[in-house]
Amino acid sequence: MTTVKDIAKAIEAIAPLSYQETYDNAGLLIGNPQQTITSVLLTLDVTEAVVQEAIQGQCQLIVAHHPLIFKGLKSLTYQNWVERTVALLIKHDIALYVAHTNLDNVLQKGVNAKFAEKIGLNKLQILQAKTDVLSKLVVYVPTSHAEAVKSVLFASGAGQIGQYSHCSFTTLGSGSFKAEETANPYSGTVGELTQVEELKIEAIIPSYLCKKAVQAVSEVHPYETMAYDCIPLQAEHPGVGAGAIGELPEALGVSEFLTLLKSKLPIKLVKHNINEGQIKKVAICGGSGAFLLKKAMQMGADAYVTADLKYHDYFDAEGLLFCDIGHYESEISSLELFYEEITDKFANIAVRFCKTNTNPIQYYF
Ligand SMILES: [Zn+2]
Repeated sequence: MTTVKDIAKAIEAIAPLSYQETYDNAGLLIGNPQQTITSVLLTLDVTEAVVQEAIQGQCQLIVAHHPLIFKGLKSLTYQNWVERTVALLIKHDIALYVAHTNLDNVLQKGVNAKFAEKIGLNKLQILQAKTDVLSKLVVYVPTSHAEAVKSVLFASGAGQIGQYSHCSFTTLGSGSFKAEETANPYSGTVGELTQVEELKIEAIIPSYLCKKAVQAVSEVHPYETMAYDCIPLQAEHPGVGAGAIGELPEALGVSEFLTLLKSKLPIKLVKHNINEGQIKKVAICGGSGAFLLKKAMQMGADAYVTADLKYHDYFDAEGLLFCDIGHYESEISSLELFYEEITDKFANIAVRFCKTNTNPIQYYF
């Protein structure tokens, strides 16, 4: 039996909720986490038409990229499309799960990884890495139990720096303590000051994993009360942040590059600024990415492909090919990430892509 919560957990394994932006509202928005499900509908946006499609397809869960409830709801009186859609979901007992900026912000299996895969970019890196998402976990342990503690730390997600796993730093020192009457010390005698040779093991860990790692380590640590620190770091996380930059296998002229975009992505047109230049290094950001223009230029991008650009944005992109391919068009392929994760982990669940085109923007040529 697969529940809504199981699907949420699988998606959060690639896009942890703590990586969403502060203004966002990702996660389970509607539904009972314990509800069992057999069929999931994937969509970029949730509209009444999408919910009708879920009802017809007997899907108990919709997984979406854009949050239907974004700024909060104070009433549910059918006054606009959001309220009507929420009501329709509840009436038909359909759950809604959303992975939004948390899916944008992960390099490995996120929106931009899929975007890059479509247009064939290699050597992908984050454009603007996030700070304040890493911590240093420090554990003090008698030397006899150091290896056991280390292996649990690594299994809990600690010690990953870029392309290196099992990273840690260890120093030998002396720990002291005096066990009180009610204590049951692993070493030493109650009421006496004890000195023990201990190792201080330090490893970097994504902050959201800290609590779980401490719990797991305490289970193999011999002490009744384990000494540890969890220190928030300001260091950038190389795998978490906004936008991405990578390289084409070979340099292309502007028109060749635009032709590549049109052939690999579901787009009807590209709005862009210049017609001359060689394109090798390409920055991308699914969705609204004008705010990353400076960063793309600093990192030496020849082109920057995103959406929702304004007239004046194009002036600022001096010497860089700035492309707006449309918000919907830049993100629709991300649904494949949901499809891959769910079908990979749950063989008994039917997963379908929404047939309704939810793009609110039409093109007239
Ligand atoms: Zn978007």
